[in-house]
Amino acid sequence: MELSHRVQAIKESPTLAITAKAQKLKADGRDVIALAAGEPDFDTPDHIKAAAIDAINKGFTKYTPVSGTPGLKNAIVAKFKRDQGLDYTAKQILVSCGGKQSFYNLCQAYINAGDEVIIPAPYWVSYPDMVILAEGKPVIVECGIEQGYKLSPAQLAAAITPRTKLVVINSPSNPTGAVYTLDELKALGEVLKKHPKVMIASDDMYEHVMLGSTTFSNILNACPELYPQTILLNGVSKAYSMTGWRIGYAAGPEWLIKAMENIQSQSTSNPTSISQVAAEAALNGPQDECFAPMLKAFNERHEFVVNTFNGIRGLKCLTAGGAFYAFVDAREAIQNLYKEGKIAAPNDLALGSYLLEAQDVAVVPGSAFGAEGYFRISFATSMGNLEKALARIANALA
Ligand code: PLP
Repeated sequence: MELSHRVQAIKESPTLAITAKAQKLKADGRDVIALAAGEPDFDTPDHIKAAAIDAINKGFTKYTPVSGTPGLKNAIVAKFKRDQGLDYTAKQILVSCGGKQSFYNLCQAYINAGDEVIIPAPYWVSYPDMVILAEGKPVIVECGIEQGYKLSPAQLAAAITPRTKLVVINSPSNPTGAVYTLDELKALGEVLKKHPKVMIASDDMYEHVMLGSTTFSNILNACPELYPQTILLNGVSKAYSMTGWRIGYAAGPEWLIKAMENIQSQSTSNPTSISQVAAEAALNGPQDECFAPMLKAFNERHEFVVNTFNGIRGLKCLTAGGAFYAFVDAREAIQNLYKEGKIAAPNDLALGSYLLEAQDVAVVPGSAFGAEGYFRISFATSMGNLEKALARIANALA
């Protein structure tokens, strides 16, 4: 018996795998600090939980329409108008089991064998594998620290071929926290306008997790003309600390949303009825008050981790504009450790293993995000944990 070629072509999500390994070491009694997971360390706000409890008590526990409840879809339509001045109808919205399923549905509904999907690296770990599952070809464009981890218009233009079907833009970015300015998006938009058959997936998952005075814009704010060739992906996981509720959504052209709905109707059907009520309460409820405590903590921690990393031998870390990650250029540190015989190979996987085995700190090696020689930490953990973990890393690299 043999597994499908499809599944053999992909790997387990590396961030989830590292988190599981750290949890196992912890269960074995080790004092491991895990900086690998991508979720806020805040509780889901009470008014959201209350809406879900009420839904259970009222028996709202059955199938809903596949594409989402009318109430939630209306809340999403209103959210796009309120936050970005964008007009959508309910038929242009598909609610899914997390933003992860939204991108999966998109790939399954839109990508054919051999179609090219442009993915700037560093990238969110799941994009290339989901493209591969749809038999597409990820075209990785490297955007290193020297260009602020952002795709340039020249790189984009050079990467587009007659086989290009989709371009992925993720801002704020997981893993780098890089945020495109409105002008940078306009410049990318100028390139994309010349290719009306290329779809743009704008993954805005971290829209509300903005750091410092950075403001959020997406490609449609920059170039409204791209509306027919853009699909916006978003969700409630990160903004409202609702990672476990599994609600994400997509907004785009009706023909594409309908096709994605067909994929979903033959795989998972509707997302959980109760979670949909909770997401509706999140989107219709207080916004800035809801984000404020989380953003205050993230800003303080961000400043601490960036300053600390930049003071450690062989590490470089840019300030992020959003999300809750620090992405660290460790190429020099890796060379130092290798020369000193502390790591078995001169790469980020060896560094990650060393930090976990010798220092009890779990980070995600950059190669998981298409950026060898870097690592990512999440600062969605207490300041105490961060102080302890970064002291251990400093000690390891001293
Ligand atoms: N997009 C990005 C960039 C992410 O970092 C994540 C989660 O880590 C997702 C999408 C998917 O989030 P979820 O499936 O929890 O809604």
